[in-house]
Amino acid sequence: MGKGVLENFLQENIKDLKDKGLFNVIDPLESANGPVIRISGFDLINLSSNNYLGLATDSRLKAAAIEAINTYGVGAGAVRTINGTLKLHVQLEEQISAFKHTEAAIVFQSGFNCNMGAISAVMDKDDAILSDELNHASIIDGCRLSKAAIIAYKHSDMADLRVKAKQVKESGLYKKIMVITDGVFSMDGDIAKLPEIADIAEEFDLITYVDDAHGSGVLGEGAGTVKHFGLSQKIDFQMGTLSKALGVIGGYVAGKKELIEWLRVRSRPFLFSTALTPGDVAASLKAIEILSNSTELQRKLWENGNYLKHGLKTLGFNIGASQTPITPCIIGDENLTQKFSRKLYENGVYAKAITFPTVPKGTGRVRNMPTAAHTREMLDRALEIYAEAGKDMGII
Ligand SMILES: *Cc1c(COP(=O)(O)O)cnc(C)c1O
Repeated sequence: MGKGVLENFLQENIKDLKDKGLFNVIDPLESANGPVIRISGFDLINLSSNNYLGLATDSRLKAAAIEAINTYGVGAGAVRTINGTLKLHVQLEEQISAFKHTEAAIVFQSGFNCNMGAISAVMDKDDAILSDELNHASIIDGCRLSKAAIIAYKHSDMADLRVKAKQVKESGLYKKIMVITDGVFSMDGDIAKLPEIADIAEEFDLITYVDDAHGSGVLGEGAGTVKHFGLSQKIDFQMGTLSKALGVIGGYVAGKKELIEWLRVRSRPFLFSTALTPGDVAASLKAIEILSNSTELQRKLWENGNYLKHGLKTLGFNIGASQTPITPCIIGDENLTQKFSRKLYENGVYAKAITFPTVPKGTGRVRNMPTAAHTREMLDRALEIYAEAGKDMGII
């Protein structure tokens, strides 16, 4: 009987998603996730990875990973708190805190479980969290896991945040109040208004948490959104990933020594999930070393981002109001978005359709992530393909 219930549930819901154009199809890569990728035997210009600086395929990172694997093996062998902490992990944490200008840092196996673990280690049912309505799924899940009251504020609407912060504070119902935001919003490429958020936090005594998954390596000479605004002393949690611009895998929180000490004893993925592998740690160390010594990759990333944006806008696409290299092409209708993405694919550009529930209904988009590794020729070719497909489908 139970099986019938599950089968009915799955069949009905999968059909519903497919009817609405919301069923995601995965195309496995037959190559590295570089600026050109191979799928089903065809080479495509890749505008869908988060590999902003091209570090995922960088030879220096690969060599560092291989060396660490040869020395330490492929797995860490235990959770961090038993004996899975290698000296390499400690070095990585020291390097992250130096790069972020904080006292200390802690690394996790992914950005997702970092948010799950860090938020819930500090906030509980007696607390409240003010959360931007467009925050990433991992923030939402971390907030839910904490059992704190979650109060969403309108996206980057500082008047709304202020009103809600005042209400929550003056209600006297909560012991601690946190404000949490993405540093860069990945679907639109806009930057959080951190100076205003920091002011509101000071006024109402809020704990501040910035998830800089898309700002690290991209803004603030690589150190992220908080550094970009010069707020390193005012943000309590500087969370980031090692998996996007840094090209590897993992997440971290950088902050005050006491905060990191607490996370080491109370964040559950740190206590109950095996440590990052030696290869990942060594490659991440190399990535941060590269970013600490040069801003060349960022310069190239921004140059490419601006070039692509200018090109798409000139063609007549709605590219929204991105302030970073992230370049959405907002189409609207989910089915049309999927078809447009398919058309680009057939013509040689891989730019994934992003639709509800990742973005609000009716704002389907093809999102472009130019990287430092793209050449001018690749971007020109991508623009030609965009022009052709856009005209064919009556979008421009
Ligand atoms: C991608 C992302 C994460 C998750 O990071 P992973 O390292 O991929 O698990 C968390 N927050 C934001 C804002 C992200 O974009």
